[in-house]
Amino acid sequence: MAQQRLFDHAMLDVAAARVLPEVINWRRDLHAHPELAFQEHRTANLVATELARMGYEVRRGVAGTGVVGLLNTGRPGPVLALRADMDGLPVAEDTGLPFASKQRIKQGNTEVALMHACGHDMHVAMLLGAARVLADLRGQLSGTVKLIFQPAEEGVANAANGAERMVKAGVLDHPKVDAMFGLHVGITPQPTGTLSLRTRGLMAGSDTFDIVVKGRQTHGALPWNGVDPVVVAAQIVLGLQAIVSRQTNLTVAPAVITVGTIHGGQRANIVPGEVKMSGTMRSFDPAVRDQMLAQLKRTAENLAFASNATAEVSIDAGYPVTWNDPDLTTKMLPSLRRVAGNAVLTDIPPTTTSEDFSFYGQRIPTMLFFLGVNPPGTPPADWAPNHSPRFNPDEGALLTGVRALASLAADYLTGN
Ligand SMILES: [Zn+2]
Ligand SMILES: [Zn+2]
Repeated sequence: MAQQRLFDHAMLDVAAARVLPEVINWRRDLHAHPELAFQEHRTANLVATELARMGYEVRRGVAGTGVVGLLNTGRPGPVLALRADMDGLPVAEDTGLPFASKQRIKQGNTEVALMHACGHDMHVAMLLGAARVLADLRGQLSGTVKLIFQPAEEGVANAANGAERMVKAGVLDHPKVDAMFGLHVGITPQPTGTLSLRTRGLMAGSDTFDIVVKGRQTHGALPWNGVDPVVVAAQIVLGLQAIVSRQTNLTVAPAVITVGTIHGGQRANIVPGEVKMSGTMRSFDPAVRDQMLAQLKRTAENLAFASNATAEVSIDAGYPVTWNDPDLTTKMLPSLRRVAGNAVLTDIPPTTTSEDFSFYGQRIPTMLFFLGVNPPGTPPADWAPNHSPRFNPDEGALLTGVRALASLAADYLTGN
């Protein structure tokens, strides 16, 4: 940790207000030109050009289309990272905005409409704004600012997502990052300018499991001559629910196990040889997640064993729990309060959606928070959620977002 340096927050607010018109321009430009995961070439160009203009050392083509900007203050101190995700979604925009996306791409024989329906256009614009603020104030800072513009937060089928690949590409090393902050617009519906978060598990870890129950096929009238995997599968479905209800301390964190598919058998009078099941597991605490995965395997295998069948369990690890490091979060709350005052909510319920920001959190202390983007005065029923074709985050939140990102970085680096 750097020794405490004097830092002028009034100057930060002035610099943030000065860059706001550009932030709005960047945001509208990006909004009109969304790009899908790992295809963010135009976006990466814009980011790299602006960062270079601000005096950042820029690395391009990280994990495909990722961009990393470094601002070395020349004084010793920690390395602090801020992250924005850059990808849009295959959603046909229905906002009626003058800068609404008209982008279409060909996928095979079909045309797909694209939209920044998760607000990543705002994330990029706000992080560029914070980049400018921090560059303006570099004389007051010590240590190093590392800005991570990552591709593919929304992920692609059957491949690693953007954050996981950025970590593999070494963005948390050279120089080694000490802590990292990220922001997401929306997710939990809050009025414009609200900053909301919780310590520990903020967003769910998500894992997919497959179970193959193998018995021995026989006549449906003579079940004792075989081993019935249908009955075993039924026991496993119920047994898995007992993991959540009887073996998980739900006062620590909530959890969900859902069996979503179950397939077996061809005819009413045949005991089949095999049943296949698949499901999803959501958890909010890394230790609880590890325990649940072990319990899931043990329950399925041993229920099968009891009937002389076998169960093969395979786990497809998804996004980890998005974990707000308790010490880091506690330390940075005064920064958020200086930015948003009473509009900082510190104990919101966890959300069962997932974020690939969690991959950074597996390596270093991280903190993710949500920025409210619903204009005050509009009824919550009219707030279109992220991923909706009508998702229309209020640009009135952009200044708060820029100030929050820049303040967190500046306060971390100066020990304020
Ligand atoms: Zn999203
Ligand atoms: Zn998102």
